[in-house]
Amino acid sequence: MKAVLVNYDKEFRVEEGSKVKLDEIDPEYRGGHEDKDSAQPEVDKYVERLRQLQYLMYAENKRSLLIVLQGMDAAGKDGVISHVLGAMNPQGCCVYGFKTPSVEELAHDYLWRVHQATPRKGYVAVFNRSHYEDVLVVRVHKLVPKEVWSGRYDEINAFERELSNEGTHILKFYLHIDKDEQLARFKDRLDDSVRNWKISESDYAEREYWSQYQEAYEEAISKCSTTYAPWYVIPANRKWFRNLAVSQILVNSLESLNMKFPPPTANLAEIRRKYSTDLREEKKEN
Ligand code: AMP
Ligand code: MG
Repeated sequence: MKAVLVNYDKEFRVEEGSKVKLDEIDPEYRGGHEDKDSAQPEVDKYVERLRQLQYLMYAENKRSLLIVLQGMDAAGKDGVISHVLGAMNPQGCCVYGFKTPSVEELAHDYLWRVHQATPRKGYVAVFNRSHYEDVLVVRVHKLVPKEVWSGRYDEINAFERELSNEGTHILKFYLHIDKDEQLARFKDRLDDSVRNWKISESDYAEREYWSQYQEAYEEAISKCSTTYAPWYVIPANRKWFRNLAVSQILVNSLESLNMKFPPPTANLAEIRRKYSTDLREEKKEN
């Protein structure tokens, strides 16, 4: 079957002010594709284009990109990093995994550690979990009182607004899997000795809180999807579809920035005349 080209930005972007209902979004969705074989050439094309666009961003050195990845355990955050973002040049790209805060981090405000990891001009930063944990796990496990976490949506919007005003392009992806798919993925980890290390007992214990997490995600995504830092809910039960949607959205979004290579600062004609031809002539003579 011939694949239909779908605009995933339009399909999965959460419009500012709208209310997300996660159980109304099908995690099995696979767009215009039947299977991985039909999607992979498109993914390869986007990933290659992403590599070129990151090079351009680095060369231009004017703007930066912040990619936020969130999702339940085993939703595929690591998978997106290796299969989609892995093509980027490590010179110019940083990945940060946000874990349980350290004693020092807890002694500061919750955005302190996050702000330090934001990308400098020309760079891409990927957040594997993020400041959103401070309205997710923190809410679900009552790590701070409701009066505290409920004020954070506005604070997060103000923080992202500031980053955006300063030239950081922000894209946030929620990788949407269902509870059965998560269990199947945990089972794969149990059966594969190379992935045994990823398993923790808390992964299973956290499943008890599935609906509380979904509720927390719905509120965070609904309140913090803005024109300057949109959330995308990506159906992610199928890894190949998740990679396709994320890579297409990244490419289209970076294309829209109309980045340009900076003009050379040196006088190239003069350099060619002075060195380049001379060297070739020299080579010929030897
Ligand atoms: P993983 O991503 O599986 O390596 O796990 C990282 C763990 O750190 C998850 O269980 C997160 O919920 C937890 N975590 C990340 N950020 C925070 C935070 N701000 N407060 C509490 N726990 C957090
Ligand atoms: Mg985990």
